[in-house]
Amino acid sequence: MSKPLVVGNWKMNGLRADSTARVKALVDGLRAQPAAGVDVAICPPFTQLALVGSLLEDAPVALGAQDCHKAERGAHTGDISPEMLTDAGAAYVILGHSERRRDHGEIDETVREKVVAAAKAGLTPIVCIGETEDQRQSGETESVLGWQIKGSLPDGFTGVVAYEPVWAIGTGLAATSEDIEATVGFIRAELVRQFNESGKTLRILYGGSVDAGNAGSILTIPNVGGALVGGASLKPDAFLSIIHAAP
Ligand code: PGA
Repeated sequence: MSKPLVVGNWKMNGLRADSTARVKALVDGLRAQPAAGVDVAICPPFTQLALVGSLLEDAPVALGAQDCHKAERGAHTGDISPEMLTDAGAAYVILGHSERRRDHGEIDETVREKVVAAAKAGLTPIVCIGETEDQRQSGETESVLGWQIKGSLPDGFTGVVAYEPVWAIGTGLAATSEDIEATVGFIRAELVRQFNESGKTLRILYGGSVDAGNAGSILTIPNVGGALVGGASLKPDAFLSIIHAAP
């Protein structure tokens, strides 16, 4: 199995000064206490990629972005292509985050097209799936996840899947270990159904209110290969604790 992967999703946070301080604290922390057994990435907003990328030179932390367009270039005002991200030094791109599905009307088909384009450009896509509170309450979690997996992941998918129950994002209420184990087990079975052998080894992250206190128990759940961290990734001490909690 691959190493655990801990990804910080800064969302729409980061100006030059606080981004610099945050990255320096992270890099210093990893120098003082290395985490060689863990893959770490941070995904700042587009405007901070160049700055953060330069601060990460020689650091054991990869750079990622939070979205990309499906086209290679052209008349798409305000958009960023996958190749622009690799050119800026990014190795990962988060796609289909529930906040993009909510704020930008992204549907599974859009996400799948972006995943294809990102992979073609050499990025590793981190594809987010997850049920809303209403869907959970009405017992639809597995069918929603099943459709999202079928719809968002193209044939030959080799990226990362992030299970992020929408009701757990930014609420301070992470899913319980029992629920995560059951749901991620379901996701694994669906991945194997869709991708056969390669579905057995695709990394599945958990995201949704991961913090320094719960990371240790979440990261040791069977089939959980890491974490996608929002709020706590903005606090270097908390993010470092999460990284060091990875088995
Ligand atoms: P959170 O966000 O850790 O703040 O809940 C996770 C995410 O949205 O990726």
